[in-house]
Amino acid sequence: MKFDLKTLEEYSDDALLAELRRVAETLKGQRLSIDRFNSLSRVHSTTLRYRFGSWRASLEKAGISEEIAPRQRVLSRAQVVQCLRDFAERNAGASVTRDAIAAQLGVHATTLTRRFGKWENLLAAVGIPPVPLGRRYTDEECFENILALWTHYGRQPHFAELNQTPSTVGSKAYVRRWGGWRKALGAFVRRVNETEQGSETQPRPEESSAPATPPVPDLAVPRSINLSLRYTVLSRDRFRCVLCGASPAKDVATELHVDHITPWSRGGLNVTENLRTLCLRCNLGKGSRIENAQPSVAADAPQASRR
Ligand SMILES: [Zn+2]
Repeated sequence: MKFDLKTLEEYSDDALLAELRRVAETLKGQRLSIDRFNSLSRVHSTTLRYRFGSWRASLEKAGISEEIAPRQRVLSRAQVVQCLRDFAERNAGASVTRDAIAAQLGVHATTLTRRFGKWENLLAAVGIPPVPLGRRYTDEECFENILALWTHYGRQPHFAELNQTPSTVGSKAYVRRWGGWRKALGAFVRRVNETEQGSETQPRPEESSAPATPPVPDLAVPRSINLSLRYTVLSRDRFRCVLCGASPAKDVATELHVDHITPWSRGGLNVTENLRTLCLRCNLGKGSRIENAQPSVAADAPQASRR
């Protein structure tokens, strides 16, 4: 076996870097590690370190790519924290899991806990709740859910029913927001009562005294019926269809809607006198367009096979 002379003729910066490049080239694409270098080079890696500051700096100065000398993935706490913040921002509501962050950083999940200790501690340092909270609900969503349950059961819903279908907002959300179910119900009733006045007396756009204005839909007077009115109408009608008497309490498949007696499109107002409770079937059945429409059975029916 023939070895090259284990010394360089000169030890200028250029000579050292040339030696580094030479070793890298002899590897023909294989990974260049410090150990590898020391076994093949005529200078020791410490010489390079002293001259250029570090092994990494030497590689950079020599223009050796990361492909040949892969950087040891050094994760700083700041990097991980930044990644956590970015992830939480981009995925609002999602729980920030160790696996998700590890994938983001391109490391193994255990690397994170090995380097930074308990995952919960790291989350706490960033100010991210360690326990996934799930989705945050607005007051409006909480109240809508109460109304949906009230309609479903035909009565005031119970606490336990918050965690059963058809509830879409769990009991924890109410406790967190209002401190308890009774208080949440109190807030619901207050909302119903406070918005009951005012909304009924709001003028429709065509009634406003602005003759020059073209009749464009005014979003201030919505076609939709607010929560308070819907509650008022539903409870007045005892959570039953006023036409056929169907109720979700008797048949869970029943879907109740608050309907305009004089359609909104024909000037019907959002007032209790013009509103009634209908089940979906009766609500659809009353529409003349739907009544006259013949379902195209022939088109959908499977063709009889000829013999
Ligand atoms: Zn009905």
